[in-house]
Amino acid sequence: MRYDVIVVGAGSAGFGAAVGAARTGKKVLLLDGNSSPGGVTVFSGCPVFTPYQSFEDKPPRGVFKEFLDRLGDRWGYFEGAPACKTSEFDASLVMTRILKESGVDMLFYATVTEAECSQDRIRSVTVFCCGRRLSFEADHFVDATGDAMLTDMAGGRTVTAPEDESMTKTVLFRVSGVSKFDKPGIRKIFSSLDFPYPWQDNFMGTRVGNDGNDILINLTAVRGNALDPFDRTRMDIELREQVDVIHRWLKEKVPGFENCRISAVAPVIGVRGSRFIAGRTVITCEDIDNDTPVSDPVADGRRSYGDHFVDRFRSPWAKNHVGTHRIPYASLIHEKIVNLVAAGRCISIEPRAATSIRYAPCCMATGQAAGVASALGIPAYSVLRDELVRQGAL
Ligand SMILES: Cc1cc2nc3c(=O)[nH]c(=O)nc-3n(C[C@H](O)[C@H](O)[C@H](O)COP(=O)(O)OP(=O)(O)OC[C@H]3O[C@@H](n4cnc5c(N)ncnc54)[C@H](O)[C@@H]3O)c2cc1C
Repeated sequence: MRYDVIVVGAGSAGFGAAVGAARTGKKVLLLDGNSSPGGVTVFSGCPVFTPYQSFEDKPPRGVFKEFLDRLGDRWGYFEGAPACKTSEFDASLVMTRILKESGVDMLFYATVTEAECSQDRIRSVTVFCCGRRLSFEADHFVDATGDAMLTDMAGGRTVTAPEDESMTKTVLFRVSGVSKFDKPGIRKIFSSLDFPYPWQDNFMGTRVGNDGNDILINLTAVRGNALDPFDRTRMDIELREQVDVIHRWLKEKVPGFENCRISAVAPVIGVRGSRFIAGRTVITCEDIDNDTPVSDPVADGRRSYGDHFVDRFRSPWAKNHVGTHRIPYASLIHEKIVNLVAAGRCISIEPRAATSIRYAPCCMATGQAAGVASALGIPAYSVLRDELVRQGAL
């Protein structure tokens, strides 16, 4: 089967890419190994979309704004909020509806296992899907796999973050039955609560869920190589043991959590950063520090990197500048493979700076740009910009 654009990966980035490409009128296929769209936000249990400093500073645009408005119709309270917190179900449902309405063909349970190439061009991809092997051809491809899987399969150069620059891996979980959630109060007394793991210096939890009464707990952490299946399995096993230990600690030590019970545990380990494409340009820490002017901006990223405001995430190179930086079009385009564009957390960036571009709304925005660029044949910047303006993304 032949398409104009194939997007591999249906996380925030792949969602944005498929919608952006389809709205140029092209025939688009979206592939994912999972059962529905959402990627990390749905399958790693973090349906929290943190835009920039606040909605007032940088109003949401493009596909992200549409996604928020549609969620708002179901939930109704995002106006002016510093982050949109929803449920995995709602995030995935709204994405699926927008994809359907945009005319995107979707194939889930479909893991891409091979990319067939000739002369610096990807010709087709093969997926393993429900016990069958299927092949799909396209003119252009978007790598929205989060870990630059497609680029690697196509033999394109990638850059892998050293383990200590790839951020901790996490299994997020949710508890319900909390009688009182006083986050500032818990943070004040945290050091006296004998947290069972020595790395943690702050309480990381936030209200989520349909009635706002579930607390999403972000306290597990482990280091390792997310690209190594054996190490990933080891981390997953270890993280689930931590969930059990931390749940018991919550019940015993944290005021208001005495009767809490685990209501959901992320099925898939949460990976923050691992591997990036080698693009025509690389966003560097220096660019972000100096606010280097960008002549071909497609989206905004944050100017902070290497920090998560708790010690276990703070790196010696962390910087917290206020404001946003521009993400260049050239950081989405692969340096050599002529019909490959990346989106989301695997665009071309120095691994240390990856925090600045990995938040879900930013991934959706680079996704939309990557999808439009692919649909238009990776055109000159002015052509891409005109279409992104037409789509309300710039
Ligand atoms: C623990 C944790 C907490 C976070 N908290 C927040 C937060 O509070 N706010 C916020 O805005 N962001 C947060 N983030 C970051 C943000 O959610 C992610 O960086 C972002 O959603 C990544 O989107 P993506 O589309 O680039 O990648 P992903 O969401 O990883 O999507 C990649 C998709 O590609 C698919 N895929 C991969 N390989 C293949 C293949 N070979 N074949 C088919 N499909 C494939 C995967 O199944 C997946 O669906 C958090 C991340 C983590 C890990």
